[in-house]
Amino acid sequence: MPETVVTRFAPSPTGYLHIGGARTALFNWLYARGRGGKFLLRIEDTDRARSTPEATQAILDGLEWLGLDHDGEVISQAARADRHAEVAQQLLASGKAYKCFSTQEEIQQFREAARAEGRSTLFQSPWRDADPATHPDAPFVIRIKAPREGATVIKDRVQGNVTIRNDQLDDMVLLRSDGTPVYMLAVAVDDHDMGVTHVIRGDDHLNNAARQMMIYDAMGWPLPVYAHIPLIHGPDGKKLSKRHGALSAAEYRKMGYPAAAMRNYLARLGWSHGDDEFFTDEEARAWFDLDGIGKAPARFDFKKLANLSGRHIAAMEDAALLHELQGYLQATGQPPLPDDRAKLLETALFCLKDRAKTFAELVDKAAFILNDRPIQPDAAAAAALDDVSRGILSELTPHLQTASWTREDLEAAAMQFAASIDTKFGKLAAPMRAALAGRTATPSVFDMLLVLGREESLARLRDAARDRG
Ligand code: GLU
Repeated sequence: MPETVVTRFAPSPTGYLHIGGARTALFNWLYARGRGGKFLLRIEDTDRARSTPEATQAILDGLEWLGLDHDGEVISQAARADRHAEVAQQLLASGKAYKCFSTQEEIQQFREAARAEGRSTLFQSPWRDADPATHPDAPFVIRIKAPREGATVIKDRVQGNVTIRNDQLDDMVLLRSDGTPVYMLAVAVDDHDMGVTHVIRGDDHLNNAARQMMIYDAMGWPLPVYAHIPLIHGPDGKKLSKRHGALSAAEYRKMGYPAAAMRNYLARLGWSHGDDEFFTDEEARAWFDLDGIGKAPARFDFKKLANLSGRHIAAMEDAALLHELQGYLQATGQPPLPDDRAKLLETALFCLKDRAKTFAELVDKAAFILNDRPIQPDAAAAAALDDVSRGILSELTPHLQTASWTREDLEAAAMQFAASIDTKFGKLAAPMRAALAGRTATPSVFDMLLVLGREESLARLRDAARDRG
């Protein structure tokens, strides 16, 4: 029976869930979910000075918004320190690690001498093969006995075989003199204990893989599959900064992108499936694989994101769209839509959905149903309501009043009226938009009339026709 795939996302809670982290989480989620596997979440909170509960919460919130649900409990790396120390002790007992009593000054002296003699400055401890009988009663660290000959090959599914000469790797510290485990040990032990089969993460961790592999080897543990993905670059080709607030998942939510669009866009950021740009979660789960991950850094492109976002909004089920729209309003500190407004908006979605690239645009386009009378025109709309236009509106209103409120009838009434005053309907449209919505860019005039209904529409037209002084 093939082994169950287990992936994990292991963020350090030192900042928000930035877009690179979100992409890493997504890749791990897709890989596991597409294979009936497990997707685990581990918070790497061992750096007590820089880790904050707020950052952990921001990461959890970001993942929740993106719909990247994890299996089991959230694992705290810091809470597992005893287990990490236990593995260091095990390696010590098996002779794969040793106590090193060298002081900082001695290490410094070693490096200076090595530099002066043109040798490698990687510290080589004199305690590596020392007889324990010679051990002093002094503070010590536990170091791993790194192989000195040969090479370590990381068989990376994205980068290919990456060879690191073992003389480039030192006997890294596993346990500090105060008994605390180092990060590298924590990651290897946690990944092993969590049963992680595939480590998919940013290629800034590629060098760490060689060190983590050393711990796996020393413990005799089977290695996970590694896939180190190129980092995301900005539109200018430069590396996206990790703690760039404007690029946190929360910021994208506030800009009004639906989570499905973010998932689609982030999946395409470094991974491809033929020429497919727009796809559903189901397709992404079925298609996602490590072979489709590119070696070159992907560039973040707002235009592509906006395009996909518009397509996802258009494709969303009404109920799901309204639900997510409420979340957007909440995230941006706007009051939620009361039930009656939400219902009205639902009746208008047919003419809004395929016109908005973001929820922000959707709300803007929906202004005609979200605002109450008297409608306050914006500057452009106010300009469309000059004296002549207001005169036209007041003449038009009785014609509409007698129309049955169907699209055909309303269109016929408006066209006839336009012909009667020897003008084109296009000339009526701008003041009508201004009167009905207070905007110049709106859904079609007839769509708005139908959604608003006879009474409300006529009242708005009359409001606008009236001289505002
Ligand atoms: N905690 C690391 C980070 O936030 C990830 C470590 C890993 O994936 O192995 O970059």
